[in-house]
Amino acid sequence: PEGAPSAPRLVPGACFSRARPAPLQQPRVVALSGSALALLGLEAAGREAEAEAEAALFFSGNALLPGAEPAAHCYCGHQFGQFAGQLGDGAAMYLGEVCTAAGERWELQLKGAGPTPFSRQADGRKVLRSSIREFLCSEAMFHLGVPTTRAGACVTSESTVVRDVFYDGNPKHEKCTVVLRMAPTFIRFGSFEIFKPADEHTGRAGPSVGRNDIRVQMLDYVIGSFYPEIQAAHAHCTDHVQRNVAFFREVIRRTARMVAEWQCVGFCHGVLNTDNMSIVGLTIDYGPFGFLDRYDPDHVCNASDDAGRYSYSRQPEVCKWNLRKLAEALAPELPLELAEAALEEEFDSEFQRHYLQKMRRKLGLVRVAQDGDGALVARLLETMHQTGADFTNTFSLLSSFPLEPQSPGLAEFLTTLTSQCASLEELRLAFRPQMDPRQLSMMLMLAQSNPQLFALIGTQANLARELDRVEQQSRLEQLSPEELQSRNRGRWADWLQEYRVRLERDMEGAGDVAAWQAERVHVMKANNPKYVLRNYIAQSAIEAAEKGDFSEVRRVLKLLESPYHSDGEAAGGSEAAEAVPGGQSYSSKPPLWAAELCVT
Ligand code: AMP
Ligand code: MG
Ligand code: MG
Repeated sequence: PEGAPSAPRLVPGACFSRARPAPLQQPRVVALSGSALALLGLEAAGREAEAEAEAALFFSGNALLPGAEPAAHCYCGHQFGQFAGQLGDGAAMYLGEVCTAAGERWELQLKGAGPTPFSRQADGRKVLRSSIREFLCSEAMFHLGVPTTRAGACVTSESTVVRDVFYDGNPKHEKCTVVLRMAPTFIRFGSFEIFKPADEHTGRAGPSVGRNDIRVQMLDYVIGSFYPEIQAAHAHCTDHVQRNVAFFREVIRRTARMVAEWQCVGFCHGVLNTDNMSIVGLTIDYGPFGFLDRYDPDHVCNASDDAGRYSYSRQPEVCKWNLRKLAEALAPELPLELAEAALEEEFDSEFQRHYLQKMRRKLGLVRVAQDGDGALVARLLETMHQTGADFTNTFSLLSSFPLEPQSPGLAEFLTTLTSQCASLEELRLAFRPQMDPRQLSMMLMLAQSNPQLFALIGTQANLARELDRVEQQSRLEQLSPEELQSRNRGRWADWLQEYRVRLERDMEGAGDVAAWQAERVHVMKANNPKYVLRNYIAQSAIEAAEKGDFSEVRRVLKLLESPYHSDGEAAGGSEAAEAVPGGQSYSSKPPLWAAELCVT
């Protein structure tokens, strides 16, 4: 009804609107993250069942924590390159902040808590599968050392909604589920875009256009609360331009480091719209994300991203594009020409610096940096691409590379390394054409006869990918498994030779070779995860949870809390007891059934 706090509407002149979590039937804890909840000073006390019942009550939104003032945040955003106008928290609700004894502040949010003024046509709910993915990945990223929002709880219920997943042609009723999210702040680039005047392409405007007073207040709040050192350094200045430039520079650097971390761990965000970019440089909003299995720089993890705008290799440039949109939203408090100069000065260099520093650690190059290191990394990635190598496992294996050229272990090492490259069967599956030949020839005809119309409907990327598949497929037809294997061995032997020469240079510079060797292996193990949240691992946990068994979600959480090799552990040793239902180890590349798993 009109005027009710949750009626969907444009909300001009406000950054937050009051909202109320809508109750759920029989809320039940799927999993809790002890380390995240401990940040709030919450520790499970007494009997586990009682602690879980209490967590289910409060973290479903059925009861409010004392002092909570739930609200939904109003923000805008550029979605897939276009200004989309008001978006806002359509499914998440802010509860309030917890200021801890350690002086930290944690904003709490319930995601999936029901309708808000920003829910538009949707219901404000989230289902079990997407909530488990967000919960597990938030925690996985934190333990990998990537800046991220945290997840404290995942609570499901007997309330259901229908989503567009069909079994036997019937709509599937899915369980409403809520994730407790935590971050110092959930303010995004898009939080500043609510002041944007009508966009020249879409004609849309932010609902608070003209409210400079609110923009200034929000900017002061963000800098004062989350960039206190910048606020303090400029406290004596009468105008705020220098402060705002210093703030923007720091946002650039944090964003560049965040995306460099993603590239180094093979993480694809999937929906890098400006409303999913945190103002404090955290990974935010885990939707159709994915970790690279077989290395493919053009990998797109979001099935609705037809043009591949948010592919793995484009993430850095997209983050930079998003920073430009932030700069536009901060003008005139931040003069655009100063912002643009800062972006050109800071972004690429900070990204490169952080990326190379991390990659050196991943390769165990612990001594002086060399000029050719960037090229060595690029050729490693090229070799991975050409051989269909598994991203995580390749890096993980490199710490056991035998350095001596005559080592009897070398042949075995090459065998292990190439055995995690895609088999012929996997490649044929991955590159199988997705259009029938008639459809393909129609598209080709259209592309030739009416290129303008063709460009307009935006399917060039689709066609290019399909043509690539057809070409790959015919190459694969002519290849035998033995030929593939020997070709892969040759390519890896070439790169390993280059890598050995580089390592030897480090070794020559090291006084104590044994100490150097130990340090190298230690650094590699601390920077190359053994476990990441691969889609098939999440999928197994989701399928069990949908049948009411949450033990696999909890087991995967525990595994991802220690993603790195421990020192002294034999390669491939300790996880034997840790197998995904179905028998595989959690550090294996995906089984065939999951090679092309589509996550929505
Ligand atoms: P995302 O692509 O996840 O960043 O979401 C884009 C917009 O859709 C944001 O404004 C979300 O709050 C909104 N949204 C996503 N899921 C829902 C939902 N289930 N109900 C209402 N709004 C939603
Ligand atoms: Mg979002
Ligand atoms: Mg989302």
